[in-house]
Amino acid sequence: MITRRTWQKFRQKITLPSITVDWDNVTDRFLDPMIWVVDNFGGSIGVFFVILVWGLLAFIAGAAYIIGLPRYWNFNGPFTVFLVCLGHWILVNIVFHYYMALTTQPGNPPEDSSSIPEITARCKRCHFAKPPRTHHCSICNKCILRMDHHCPWLNNCVGFYNYRYFFLFMAFTCIGLLFIAIFGAPIFYFEVYIGVKSEPEGYRVINNGSHLLPMEEDIILHASNPQPSQWERSAIIMVAVLVIGILLALGALVGWHSMIITRGETTIENLSNKDERRKSQLEKKTYLNPYDYGRKQNWRLFLGMNEERSWECVLFPSNHLPIGDGIYWNRKECV
Ligand SMILES: [Zn+2]
Ligand SMILES: [Zn+2]
Repeated sequence: MITRRTWQKFRQKITLPSITVDWDNVTDRFLDPMIWVVDNFGGSIGVFFVILVWGLLAFIAGAAYIIGLPRYWNFNGPFTVFLVCLGHWILVNIVFHYYMALTTQPGNPPEDSSSIPEITARCKRCHFAKPPRTHHCSICNKCILRMDHHCPWLNNCVGFYNYRYFFLFMAFTCIGLLFIAIFGAPIFYFEVYIGVKSEPEGYRVINNGSHLLPMEEDIILHASNPQPSQWERSAIIMVAVLVIGILLALGALVGWHSMIITRGETTIENLSNKDERRKSQLEKKTYLNPYDYGRKQNWRLFLGMNEERSWECVLFPSNHLPIGDGIYWNRKECV
């Protein structure tokens, strides 16, 4: 019979490992080799990663044009026109935001420190005076305004002037991958899973009374010339693997950045704020992030929305500058 004491002992046994595991330490250990690689080879692998991104984008978009478009056109013309418009809206946004994130400098502190109203420190590496939220990037070898992180996929730092482009590139890429996953699923099903070509043209059928079956000669013709079909099937499988893999990884990243944008933090500040919260908890106090202006205002500031600009600057490519200068930061109570 299980007594209260036995149950408590059992609970202690099963809960103890989850209490003693320092998950921050585990993730740090896991991330250490990745950070080491980026720190040491960030510059050279950055160019390779950028070429890889353009290559993947071209491959997936190319497969949509060459494999997807003719099949949908044969299925339903007006619906295909709608998909082409929707697909191009997503594609234009992906290309625009990626190009802008690559080419827009994240912002550096001014050489003249007298124009910085609040100096938090002087950088030990580049000797520039640092405004609040500025950090030194060891790969760019510069101090970066409102630095988030150095991104090898951009071969650039993500900071004050290009964070919106970086985030919207990831968000539109996720939408694009969902678009391919949803409208590519029937093609995958017919071409790979069932193994029967889905387009009616060039594939005659006879009615045997209850089912539509391919004619035997078509099967023979198909078997005698398997090359195009095999190529298409390989491409469809590759696209499916890439779409699922990238969607999972990028979806997690979009979720993470959405969370820190909602909190008014950068990736670096998220770590330091965690420490501050822990310290405050020990002192039985509540730590408040001075740059958290409230969820709605954090998103409006991040997207650069004001009285003149609304959702059109998010839904369509826009090169407007962020609100502020990245040097002077209002503390929460001043906003
Ligand atoms: Zn510096
Ligand atoms: Zn950098």
